[in-house]
Parts: sequence; C-alpha cells; structure tokens
Amino acid sequence: MNLVGFLPNELEDLAVELGASRYRGRQLATWIYRKGVFDLDTMSDLPKDVRARLAERVTIHVPEPERVTASQDGSRKLVFRLGDGSRISSVLMPDDDRLTLCVSTQVGCGFECRFCLTGVMGLERNLTAAEILGQVLAANRLCDGGQRVTHIVFMGMGEPLANYAALVQTLRILTDAKLGLGYSPRRITVSTVGLVPGIEKLGRENLKVNLAISLHAASDEVRSQLMPVNRSWSVETLVAAVRKYPLAPRQRVFFEYVMLDGINDSPEDARRLVRLLRGVRAKVNLIPFNDWDGSPFRRPPLARILAFQSILLDAEITTTVRWSKGEDIGAACGQLREPIPA
Ligand code: SAH
Repeated sequence: MNLVGFLPNELEDLAVELGASRYRGRQLATWIYRKGVFDLDTMSDLPKDVRARLAERVTIHVPEPERVTASQDGSRKLVFRLGDGSRISSVLMPDDDRLTLCVSTQVGCGFECRFCLTGVMGLERNLTAAEILGQVLAANRLCDGGQRVTHIVFMGMGEPLANYAALVQTLRILTDAKLGLGYSPRRITVSTVGLVPGIEKLGRENLKVNLAISLHAASDEVRSQLMPVNRSWSVETLVAAVRKYPLAPRQRVFFEYVMLDGINDSPEDARRLVRLLRGVRAKVNLIPFNDWDGSPFRRPPLARILAFQSILLDAEITTTVRWSKGEDIGAACGQLREPIPA
C-alpha cells in the first residue's frame, strides 16, 4: 500500500485505523506533500510506535526517473519505469521564473489522433493517482536549490479525462492548500481530446483548474479525419460544453491547434475558427506540427502559420504560436513514446 496518492483525509482515516489520532494523519500528509519527505524514519514528530505500525502496513514510494535527458533548449525529459515494467515520461520546461511540468496520465493512449505518436502505441493502461502524482513529487525532488515545479500541465501521454477518478484524486492533492502540495488551480491545466461528458463532470468538481481543448480543426469534416473522437462529439457539441465550463473572472479556455501543412492551415480554416469561437472566452495556442518517423504530415511554412495567427488576432482572439520544447530529445508535443524503438 503506497501512501502517495492518498488524500489528506484518507491519511487521517488511516491514522485512526492504526489506533492513532487524526492529527497523526495530518502530520503524515505534511511530511509527504508539503515537505517532500518520503522516509518514515525522518518524520521526527511522529511517535516511534506510530511509525513502526505504519512501516508494517505501508510504503511511501515515489518513482525514480530511469533516465533524464536534457534538451539544448533547457527542457528535460524524465522517463519512469513503473512497477509493471511499463514506461512513461514527463517533461520539465523552464521559462523565465516558471518551471512547468508536463505529466502523463496513461501508458499510451487509445484515441488514435493521426498526428500523434503516442496514439500509435495504443492504450496500455491507466496510471494510478500515485503514479501521476509521483511524477510531480519526483520532479520536485530532482530540482535542487529550493526551486520547485511552478506549473503543471496534463499534456503528456494519455487522455486525462479517460482516467477520470485518478485525475481528480491527483488534482485534489495538488491543490489542497493546507495539507496537499498547495498549487493554485490557475497554475494547473488539464488538456483533453474533447470528451464532452468528462468536461461537464470536471466543471462540476469545483476544482477551478484550467481547461485546454485539443481542437485542431473547426469543421467536423477535417476534425473527424484527424481525430476519430470527433465522431462521438461534434465540434459544435464540444464548443457548447466548453461554453458551460465554469471560469473565474479573467480565466479563459485554451484551444490547442496543431498546424498541419495543407490540412488545417488555410485562411479559410482560420476564418472558420474565428466563427466557431465567437463569444467563447478562448485563448488559442497554435502548435507547429512536430515531426516523427513515418508520419504523413508536415509542418506548414512559417509564413502560413503567421498568416493564420493574424486572422485570429484581427478578430481579437488571443493567439500565440507555441513552439514545442524538447524536440531534439523526443519530448515535444505528440512525440512521447516509450520505449523509443531502436
Ligand atoms: N490527450 C490530451 C493530452 C495530450 S496534450 C489531449 O489530446 O489534449 C498533447 C497535445 O499535443 C495535444 O494538443 C495534441 O493534439 C498535441 N499533439 C499531438 N501530436 C502532435 C504533434 N506531432 N505535433 C504537435 N502537437 C501534437
């Protein structure tokens, strides 16, 4: 039984089960989540007998990266080997005073977006809350000099909303200000292929995290070709669900749009996107396609990307071109696949 991934109140329950007070559970939560201490022997304010009883029943396990690869651009890819031998990756991306961690939620992914290398792997399994949270704890342990991860994006391998229970459990621990890691929900972003029931459910959790939608096309015709999931929920249905997602006063929903040469990058595509997002509190991130071996797509010329962006900007839609980090180490958007075939 791994305590990582337990909610603070579940740690309190456990303490009671072991004949201690709820207070001992709160101390445990503080050590693990607030102080990043995973060794029972170091938890000096826990009575020896409580520690002994815990040691008989539980472990506190944070995955050790099997490999850390550094990119020329300063980002680092962390590859973890999990208990069952499968591998996942996280990406650490420094940017001025920010340190963003991109985490995985599944081994592989089952949604088969045509432009995504992780989709080629297929879905192997969901990660547990311990394995998702473990990526954050491991990354924080890796950062020395008192720095820690400042922003977390659920944009690694897998579809977060397809692993809903573990996702929400992880988000609760990350955002618990007293006994969890204390991350502001505004520094956390959950990205989805567009699972409408999941978006609605997440909206009701009162977690207040940012939502990102992998849109990639404004018409059903193009989107269904690129993303089979669009056959279950059309573009209109998806945007209708996004409109209902609860937002704080200056909060916006992010729309990711991978730029594919000759597929979704014309001025007409941009104008269709403008019409689709009319009245939506949106921010668009254009992601120039990251190539991988055997992919049928190409990145459009820069001029075409910028022309697309200006149409959106002219319509007063905040739009950035998001150059992926870690392309040289297979860590860029859509390039995560483990193990990398020889
Ligand atoms: N399954 C979730 C989380 C993954 S986020 C989701 O799809 O939102 C990863 C982002 O990178 C998604 O927006 C995805 O569509 C995008 N992406 C996938 N392959 C890519 C590639 N080859 N180049 C650029 N972006 C890509």
